[in-house]
Amino acid sequence: MSDRDMKKEARGFSEEVVSEDGVVVVKWLDNRTVCLVSNCVGKGLEDQAKRWDKTNSQYVQISRPEVVKKYNHSMGGVDLLDQLISLYRILIRSKKWTLRVTMHMIDFALVNSWLEYKKDCQPCNVPKKKIMDLLDFRMTIAESLIKMGQKVPSDKRGRPSSSFSATSPASPHPVKRKVETRPLVEVQFDRVDHMPQFDDKKEATRCKVAECKGRSHVFCEKCRVHLCINKNRNCFLTFHRSSK
Ligand SMILES: [Zn+2]
Ligand SMILES: [Zn+2]
Repeated sequence: MSDRDMKKEARGFSEEVVSEDGVVVVKWLDNRTVCLVSNCVGKGLEDQAKRWDKTNSQYVQISRPEVVKKYNHSMGGVDLLDQLISLYRILIRSKKWTLRVTMHMIDFALVNSWLEYKKDCQPCNVPKKKIMDLLDFRMTIAESLIKMGQKVPSDKRGRPSSSFSATSPASPHPVKRKVETRPLVEVQFDRVDHMPQFDDKKEATRCKVAECKGRSHVFCEKCRVHLCINKNRNCFLTFHRSSK
């Protein structure tokens, strides 16, 4: 119905249209018309809402579609979601709405997953300092999507890599890093392209297998951590085989 026709009806009047695949559009007359779209509920079970009636200077009860009730109940969460999405929104220059919606859905899923993750951290007794913030969370997912199950880019192969742990190539200022960073578990156990390389350092580096006190010149090209591999122990193998 057009707004004009709708305003001839009593306040609280609503109309709904359902598509073949179950998307419902509800138009409701409050002090003006409101449109809501949902794949969950439409007019549903209408209830009553209290409104101020200006012309008669008194409160009145008007009908309210279920979708409006549900929206009012959850709009705090919708606002929070919108706000969190706006923090690290995927930059897309394309004006195509299909692409923009797709990117929005990725942002949407990432924020909701992060909220679920934070909820799960409590029963799992994750210490507060260890809980990832939204940016870390997004970076972790990005990194595992890029590296998990993937080969090491071929231009890295064969290049002398002895200095990989001393400087960070991503940083414009060379930062001395004493500790090797650990790969993500998703990458560590993906069984793709973990190849040993020999460094050309003077001193051997501590092996990164937790129980091992050994030192090694051998490192994993993909994980970028040092691991023993010799007659007595094969930490290279231990490190890459999940105990699960
Ligand atoms: Zn590895
Ligand atoms: Zn070792």
